[in-house]
Amino acid sequence: MSKTLFEKIVAREIPAQIVYEDGMVLAIRDINPQAPTHVLIFPKKVIPRIAEAKSDDKQLLGHLLLKAAEVAEKLRLDDGYRLVINNGANGGETVPHLHCHILGGRHMNWPPG
Ligand code: 5GP
Repeated sequence: MSKTLFEKIVAREIPAQIVYEDGMVLAIRDINPQAPTHVLIFPKKVIPRIAEAKSDDKQLLGHLLLKAAEVAEKLRLDDGYRLVINNGANGGETVPHLHCHILGGRHMNWPPG
């Protein structure tokens, strides 16, 4: 199996601006930011998308969300932010490696496009 884009970033085969890293997750700046602050946080373990997560992934997914909130705090998104997980074609997913977008620094519209 070939590596996903995010596995290559974890392996430092593709450069990225790293915001946070621990044994389970990595957070990087999005290459095409949709807000003044746009960070992607993802598990190092490849789960293609949230629909394919298993109950064994419960601890990892909890860790991912708690770290997303910590990263948002570290980036001083004190006025609020949005966490987004795109799933599948209609969800707008383009990288098949589960990731959570952290978007902030401006007011987010609802409903999303
Ligand atoms: P998705 O559309 O799957 O929810 O999100 C994938 C995200 O990955 C997009 O926001 C896109 O801009 C970002 N992205 C794609 N290629 C790269 C890359 O090489 N480096 C970084 N840092 N982000 C990328």
